[in-house]
Amino acid sequence: MSQQQIEPPAWIVIPPSAYRPESLPKRMLDMYTLFGSTEGKTCRRCKNLLDNGHGGHSHRYYKCDLQRLTNGPATDWRARWLACGKFEDKP
Ligand code: SF4
Repeated sequence: MSQQQIEPPAWIVIPPSAYRPESLPKRMLDMYTLFGSTEGKTCRRCKNLLDNGHGGHSHRYYKCDLQRLTNGPATDWRARWLACGKFEDKP
């Protein structure tokens, strides 16, 4: 069975410069919709991005401190995502 691409509702804001917007999860689209984006910045440089380390695997696990936090993958974050409007530069 093939997976069907679901179009996001029209009220969701997707910044034109977002990296692969078709692959962004709802939790990140919600951040853009609520707070806008910060052009030229990614979550990597935001002080709200929590680095949870490797977790025994080869890649790092990140979470956004402004989101509901769980230990599961549903709240994992990507450092390469275009920053939202709540971006705060790391000191
Ligand atoms: S830029 Fe926005 S979404 Fe990214 S880590 Fe910071 S607060 Fe979270």
